[in-house]
Amino acid sequence: MKIAILSRNPGLYSTNRLKEAGIKRGHEVVILNPLKCDLIIEKKKPQIIYNGELVTGVDAVIPRIGASVTFYGTAVVRQFEMMKIFTTIESQALVRSRDKLRSLQVLSRAGLGLPKTIFTNYSKDSEAVIDGVGGAPCIIKLLEGTQGVGVILAETKSAATSVLEAFQGLQARVIVQEFIKEAGGADIRAFVVDGVVVGAMKRQGKEGEFRSNLHRGGTAEVVELTEEEENTALKATKVLGLGVAGVDMLRSNTGPKIMEVNSSPGLEGIERATGKDIAKSIIRYIERNVD
Ligand code: ADP
Ligand code: MG
Repeated sequence: MKIAILSRNPGLYSTNRLKEAGIKRGHEVVILNPLKCDLIIEKKKPQIIYNGELVTGVDAVIPRIGASVTFYGTAVVRQFEMMKIFTTIESQALVRSRDKLRSLQVLSRAGLGLPKTIFTNYSKDSEAVIDGVGGAPCIIKLLEGTQGVGVILAETKSAATSVLEAFQGLQARVIVQEFIKEAGGADIRAFVVDGVVVGAMKRQGKEGEFRSNLHRGGTAEVVELTEEEENTALKATKVLGLGVAGVDMLRSNTGPKIMEVNSSPGLEGIERATGKDIAKSIIRYIERNVD
């Protein structure tokens, strides 16, 4: 079959690995930059033009849409859906998962463990908000941050109040969150494909860093999930409607707490840590859904 990877950067590890895995399983693989797709919207004949040519014969798409191009990227994925082409991530699920706040709301309704979180429309009473998540130290997060940028650990109530006031002054949207101290600067990522955890890793922030992001110098190693962690990851993926997801959890004294669910999780960290062929799992997921 013909598989299109929607990616702006053909040089990325994840894009390359998916291409390689698809070819190895006997498929034709093309990489399309979603920003270069023109969408033709007319009665009963949705089409896509790429580099001046009509896109034809595609059986499945793998969206790898960066956070900075969610709007356009999602429109392209939706257009493929209109053309009745299978996608590993539905456009609706992509939009839903990109909104951290909306995701947390959906996850909380599903009864999943989360750090207690407060979202406020620039409350005048910062102290009450901080007390609401158990006081300082607490976490303050910009809603549209990625790779650990925009996540702050406020050690004291006065630090937290100043940070909140500063963000309010900038009209930035933030959430205030309970700090899960016992996680010790580490988190767990479960990589889910089609209702199965295909790999899991523990990421540890570098010395003195509470953020475990690999982009911030964290290190990753393979980890065995508890049954509760596995169930939490699978349920989160299901309620958000994702076929492929990276579910990030903190190990707390009261069980796993989900921080976020990533709809374009990178393959490099997880494949290196687990030694598993995760790209192949994604290609096989497509094969099961396209005849
Ligand atoms: P980003 O989208 O920027 O990666 P995250 O919400 O994943 O933001 O936070 C980045 C990192 O900060 C996490 O991987 C985790 O190590 C740490 N962290 C985030 N929230 C909390 C929390 N409530 N308690 C303890 N550590 C946290
Ligand atoms: Mg993260």
